[in-house]
Amino acid sequence: NVADVSGVPEWVPGHLRDDGIEELYPPQAEAVERGVTEGESLVASIPTASGKTLIAELAMLASVERGGRALYIVPLRALASEKKREFDQFEEYGLSVGVSTGNYESDGDWLAACDIIVATSEKVDSLVRNGAGWLDDLACVVADEVHLVDDAHRGPTLEVTLAKLRRLNPDLQTVALSATIGNAGEIAEWLDAGLVDSDWRPIDLRTGVHYGQALHFDDGDTRELPVRSSERPTAAIARETLDDGGSTLVFVNSRRNAEAAAKRLASVTVGALTPEEEERLEAVAAEIREVSDTETSDDLARAVERGAAFHHAGCAGEHRSLVESAFRDRLIKLVAATPTLAAGVNTPSRRVVVRDWRRYDGSVGGMAPLSVLEVHQMFGRAGRPGLDPYGEALLLANSHDELDELFERYIWADPEAVRSKLAAEPALRTHVLATVASGFADSREALLSFLDRTLYATQTAEQGRLERVADNVIAYLVANEFLERDGDALRATSLGHTVSRLYLDPMSAAEIIDGLRGATDPTAMGLYHLVCRTPDMYDLYLRSGDREEYTMLAYEREAEFLGAMPSEFEEGRFEDWLSALKTARMLEDWASEVDEERIAERYGVGPGDVRGKVDTAEWLLGAAERLAGELDMGTAPAVHEARVRVQHGVREELIDLARVRGVGRKRARRLHDAGVETRADLREADKSVVLAALRGRRRTAETILENAGREDPSMDGVVADPEAAPAAS
Ligand code: ADP
Repeated sequence: NVADVSGVPEWVPGHLRDDGIEELYPPQAEAVERGVTEGESLVASIPTASGKTLIAELAMLASVERGGRALYIVPLRALASEKKREFDQFEEYGLSVGVSTGNYESDGDWLAACDIIVATSEKVDSLVRNGAGWLDDLACVVADEVHLVDDAHRGPTLEVTLAKLRRLNPDLQTVALSATIGNAGEIAEWLDAGLVDSDWRPIDLRTGVHYGQALHFDDGDTRELPVRSSERPTAAIARETLDDGGSTLVFVNSRRNAEAAAKRLASVTVGALTPEEEERLEAVAAEIREVSDTETSDDLARAVERGAAFHHAGCAGEHRSLVESAFRDRLIKLVAATPTLAAGVNTPSRRVVVRDWRRYDGSVGGMAPLSVLEVHQMFGRAGRPGLDPYGEALLLANSHDELDELFERYIWADPEAVRSKLAAEPALRTHVLATVASGFADSREALLSFLDRTLYATQTAEQGRLERVADNVIAYLVANEFLERDGDALRATSLGHTVSRLYLDPMSAAEIIDGLRGATDPTAMGLYHLVCRTPDMYDLYLRSGDREEYTMLAYEREAEFLGAMPSEFEEGRFEDWLSALKTARMLEDWASEVDEERIAERYGVGPGDVRGKVDTAEWLLGAAERLAGELDMGTAPAVHEARVRVQHGVREELIDLARVRGVGRKRARRLHDAGVETRADLREADKSVVLAALRGRRRTAETILENAGREDPSMDGVVADPEAAPAAS
């Protein structure tokens, strides 16, 4: 019973009851028994949607009650704001909740006033590097989706960050939440934590495979499910779910497939809508169009009008939220998603269909099967407690052999064990530098003993591997003057400290420094290409035909590149150079005021991707600017200009205007065309001219004038001067 939980603030039971939570779920009760509200560390390995969040909340509230502070670590930025919104419910009881995302370098001092802080592992790592003082009185840290330590890209950061936090405060309570995995015990051992390992679910889950005209279930049951000759199995399944009053979540393996599936399946959902639903969906579609006027946005709105939607990482954040909430309200009947949705966002559905169980994997250069862990996480989204009688999760088979294979591989299989990916050079490069620079180790021996506290060390049977990789990395860092070595002693140089605080991969820093050293008067393109070549930028793929196009461009603009272009015969390196060029040209287009929609079309990406690259470029150019300054290079002003242009998406002459809050790239251009060219001009300009350039929007005009520092921003009685308005485009 929720009233019996010790250690939490007295308002907690009442609050939970108001939320419809009377009894703890069995795994939650077990967590409380193991002392999670008394400061005991815990690993909770339980299925998706079985109430992990409440376990974390109880632990955090109890630690705040004891006078400490709690940190909740999420794997993705999108989840940080979602969690913050969830925890905001505690503000009415006087707790303050903060979220720390974005800007890597700020020291986050304002966070010191918060009781609960939500951040990604990269952000926490950065805060540790920058010595945020409040980390010292941290009482409880929660690691959400801790099974992602298995992820080669992000796992090592989470692993090292947890090790550092526990080192800063040996009494720190660590609560790690995990999907069901094969080796939760090992994770618990690493974290010196108790363990709740359960496969309990709040709602029954049936799993099965569709093949031919029937569904085959895990309990041996089969049921007919007729597929019409003109349709695909997914459509037949969605139709049947609708007849039964339920919704369907379809997981596919690419963004393009998600969009195509939503479009196709909308012809199924449209038939099931009531007139009232149609009206409400139209309103949602209008909001979607309001967010941005790109083709993707229009495709999404059109599907939503018909009761279906797609959801993937290329969608704008606001689009994703609109889709999630309309799906939860049962207004949208079907969502076709890439697996991003399975990670954390709470969107249960009567039925889940994992349509594609293979996905393109760059590291093998072809299609590879999803892990059991991933598929089970998707399955876990089936069934909404209190709304559905049960949840149903299905795979699709094309042949009898595949039917058997899918049962073996996913339905009856246990999830894999997770394994640390720390002992790899790219991961250790950055973490060794940071560990030394932020004072966790001052010698090779101290470094090795720090690394000994990681999951990798707990798991490995191969003695000496971590040591070998660490030695290679130390040599690399010394050669690039980020570390100094004196016998066994290690010290970060001033440059090394800067690189660590900037949160750069040392290899990125070395590339940038090298490129800038050879430059005298770099162009924006030269600088964009330089930062796109670093391992911190995730470049655009080359599609068929791109190779010729970008090879030509490479020769045309060869003089602008910083550093020597590899020869066409160096296959891999040349290919990478071209991908960087493609990404750099996208940035150049953006900084030349090309329309967002045109960019998305030209590079075959979603608007969310454009924003992502722009943000990364802005950060890397900011870092380059700092490095140029620190090394006294004359190129700092050129880097600064390239950065500001990317930040605002404007040409050079608009920089001053675009810096005024509320102006933005389109309005800056219109003002400029009307003769208002600088912030100073804005303060002096004829109001009727400003109003006309802003298309008669009075409130906007007033806000902008105020932000520009004008004394009398009021537009009362001002009439737009039609002569001054630049031709509408
Ligand atoms: P997980 O994080 O394990 O994927 P969540 O924590 O999001 O799952 O929980 C899923 C849903 O279950 C949430 O809507 C939550 O409010 C609800 N829930 C959690 N615990 C209980 C409980 N003890 N009783 C009733 N509902 C609960």
